[in-house]
Amino acid sequence: GKGIAVFTSGGDAQGMNGAVRAVIRMGIYLGAKVYFIKEGYQGMVDGGDNLVEASWSSVSGIIHKGGTVIGSARCKDFRERWGRLKAAKNLVKKNITNLVCIGGDGSLTGANLFRVEWSSLLDELLSTDEITKEERENCANLNIVGMVGSIDNDFCGTDMTIGTDSALHRIIEAIDAIAATAYSHQRTFIMEVMGRHCGYLALVAALASEADFVFIPEWPPESNWPEILCKKLAQERAMGLRLNIIIVAEGAIDREGRPITAEQIKKVVVDNLKQDTRITVLGHVQRGGSPSAFDRILGCRMGAEAVLALFEMKPDSEAVVVSLDGNQAVRVPLMACVEKTKAVAAAMAAKEWEKAVELRGRS
Ligand code: ATP
Repeated sequence: GKGIAVFTSGGDAQGMNGAVRAVIRMGIYLGAKVYFIKEGYQGMVDGGDNLVEASWSSVSGIIHKGGTVIGSARCKDFRERWGRLKAAKNLVKKNITNLVCIGGDGSLTGANLFRVEWSSLLDELLSTDEITKEERENCANLNIVGMVGSIDNDFCGTDMTIGTDSALHRIIEAIDAIAATAYSHQRTFIMEVMGRHCGYLALVAALASEADFVFIPEWPPESNWPEILCKKLAQERAMGLRLNIIIVAEGAIDREGRPITAEQIKKVVVDNLKQDTRITVLGHVQRGGSPSAFDRILGCRMGAEAVLALFEMKPDSEAVVVSLDGNQAVRVPLMACVEKTKAVAAAMAAKEWEKAVELRGRS
């Protein structure tokens, strides 16, 4: 049968386990031999016990767990050709020519590079007698399907990345908890949320929690933001509200591209309004806890679709990403999405905010 392997790479995200489970079970259901690769690309390079054939029951009881039970890693070796050569040999020895990569844009870029190089890697392995001619022929092509696992929702080409919804739940729970204590003491809280260069978590959390102000990287505030912020906070208090919540994305910047930090915002509020102001940095709590129903189902749907995509691929098929488009599972060209995601970063670096927002689109 077909040899399929699934791995998780880059930062972990809730819902990855549901995706892994769906890949394994759909693969087995369709008659494939399915493998886990533990510890992401590092496990692929190191081989040995990191490549494990999966059974139906080996993915029982993982859908409700956060993170990724098969481990994830950042792997320097895979960035080098010698690392990819070792990885290729390990896959060929198990007759694996189909990969499902669950990770961010870095991981997907690496997977695409691997596919493009595959023939030349195999030629080199054959020339040094590390694989046989028969193995070379049986494994002539590598098929790649990606799924985006990231709490940041920072990938162009899918409406929601796996993990975002659960992270939002964690953030909202934390803001609700903070709001209760803020109310009691008439305090102002500044909450820093994750997202790297993407403001999605901050923006949506602000909407869902009735925050008073939000700082996101895609839409830096006017240079007189301290004035605008203080006016807004003062207005709220004048109306009798007992607390203020300000959300700041970890990647928030001003129009010059300089970071806007929680500390800076606190100083503005304290200096101008003398409000009792505290900072809460949510940090890795946002990656913790069990996946939301949405992320479990998303992982299931994407995982099943990924296997179907692999079964329908031709030898020269480009790598695809399975993604969510208006509640439909769709397949989109992997590299086009990676390029678009990079174009957003370039537009932001060039301070072309409107272009960045337009490129980011629904995702
Ligand atoms: P996250 O968004 O959570 O950071 P990511 O997939 O973007 O996820 P990266 O650290 O960029 O995370 O990449 C994960 C791994 O993918 C790297 O450690 C490396 O092994 C591999 N990788 C990334 N980019 C490349 C590349 N250009 N060539 C080969 N391998 C790569």
